[in-house]
Amino acid sequence: ATDSSAAEDVLASISHQFSVDDAGLLNITETFLREMAEGLANYGYPMAMIPTFVTSIPDGSETGTCLALDLGGTNLRVCEVNLHGDGTLHLRQKKYKVSDALKTGEVTTLFDYLADSVDAFLTESGSPSCAVPPSLSRRQSRDGRFNDADADRPYMPLGLTFSFPVEQTALDSGKLLTWTKGFSAKNAIGKDIVRLLQDAFDRKNMHVRCVALVNDTVGTLLSRAYASGGCTLGGIFGTGTNGAYVEDIANITKLGNSVTGAGGSMVVNTEWGAFNNSRTALPRTPFDNKLDRESINPSKQAFEKFVSGMYLGEVARNVIISLIDAAPKAHLFSGHSSHHLNKQWGLDSAVLSEIEGAWEDAHGTHLFNGTEAIADNGTGGTETTKHRYSDVEKLQRIREVIIKRMELPPGVVTLDDADVVRKVCAYVVSRAARLSGCAVAAVLVQTGRARLLKGKVEHGAVPLVDEGKRIIVGVDGSLIQHYPFFGEKLRASLRVLVGEDVESRVDIGMAKDGSGVGAALCALGAYRQI
Ligand code: ADP
Repeated sequence: ATDSSAAEDVLASISHQFSVDDAGLLNITETFLREMAEGLANYGYPMAMIPTFVTSIPDGSETGTCLALDLGGTNLRVCEVNLHGDGTLHLRQKKYKVSDALKTGEVTTLFDYLADSVDAFLTESGSPSCAVPPSLSRRQSRDGRFNDADADRPYMPLGLTFSFPVEQTALDSGKLLTWTKGFSAKNAIGKDIVRLLQDAFDRKNMHVRCVALVNDTVGTLLSRAYASGGCTLGGIFGTGTNGAYVEDIANITKLGNSVTGAGGSMVVNTEWGAFNNSRTALPRTPFDNKLDRESINPSKQAFEKFVSGMYLGEVARNVIISLIDAAPKAHLFSGHSSHHLNKQWGLDSAVLSEIEGAWEDAHGTHLFNGTEAIADNGTGGTETTKHRYSDVEKLQRIREVIIKRMELPPGVVTLDDADVVRKVCAYVVSRAARLSGCAVAAVLVQTGRARLLKGKVEHGAVPLVDEGKRIIVGVDGSLIQHYPFFGEKLRASLRVLVGEDVESRVDIGMAKDGSGVGAALCALGAYRQI
């Protein structure tokens, strides 16, 4: 075989390894439904199906001002949220860096840093502007965390968004089950997260009271509900991936008869990042195995490793390295690599996004991070009419991205290489988007809003809930917000699984600042009941 046909064969094989056909999607979704059922019935399963004790969903009429603290992503965020009661709000926020030393050090040091950040936020804003009604502010906490002297001083309610698996026992109490996303602070597993934070506030004599603990997925669901008058599912596709949805309490059988008998609904945090940790249903490749083996949590968060921003760059890097190292003849960059590419985690999924963005401008516009690139017309003036790039021009742009982001010498990167790299990105991320569709479909089936299509025949005889109505889904995360066509590919997968009618009624929208707004909504609700 010629060199180029050998390269084509290798690419075809990689494409095959990363493809999930329609039958595969159905199989994965059915396994998803089975694991959801297991988690609703039992404690201790990887896909933990955590009851959140959030039992009312906002409709947009909520009012008040509250603090929110968000830990779990790339940054720590402190915000003050003012809800206007008409689905709109005002949010003031500040981000603080969480260093690796804090992520992996002693947990009290991490929580002291959280308290310090809230303190800095309040100090910067001058006098705290939390609109706490005086009658409420004088009440003592149920568990006596404040002494009599404190009881006269108003304290501010705060909602904590904590995006790690927590087994909740009440809205304001929950134990950390395990760290994810690169965190491993010591002496934290099994501890009550609210207590850790409250103790840090109390050590600093701060009049802030943590009244609600929410997962970012729950926050996303609540904040979309506030903006849209209701919501079925909140999903995160960012550093990690996870989803929360509204379940009938009667179905959360592990809560026991005394709770399930009361009826009503409760938000369940699925922890779907841990779907299929047994990896019997996921279409893993040697590239996925390598990533998993070298990760800090082998055999954990299996689904997350196929889907989320923290991992997609690394899967693609593994493929690229294998093409560079191919024998007897390299299939990329004439066998050259770079320091950057050789490093674990050396390729950020944002680079994949940039590469696909440079290719996916079929309509002549190049949308990336919400800004429209304006092509230079070569005359020094600004070309305002939309420029349609030829394939060669697109590959030239991709080549430049590769040289810059992968820090490769220009001499070793050809246009053919650029084409190979962008195909690799597409294989890895299309698979992620299709698998994400399985998670959404499983929730729609679980909540009775859809039936799984098998071939062309629908199965299941139970009448559907809310037939013909809009199904509201709130999402957050860089991947779904910025990655070109991620949402469209997710929808295509959803169409395969639940059919066009249901898919067309699914309204997927960004829940902007969902974690902060959701925590505030939750905290205000909880605070008024104290
Ligand atoms: P978090 O989930 O940490 O709150 P984000 O939603 O911003 O924050 O997700 C950050 C993750 O998304 C990182 O893993 C990063 O690699 C990835 N990312 C950042 N920008 C982009 C982008 N434009 N396209 C795809 N992925 C991105």
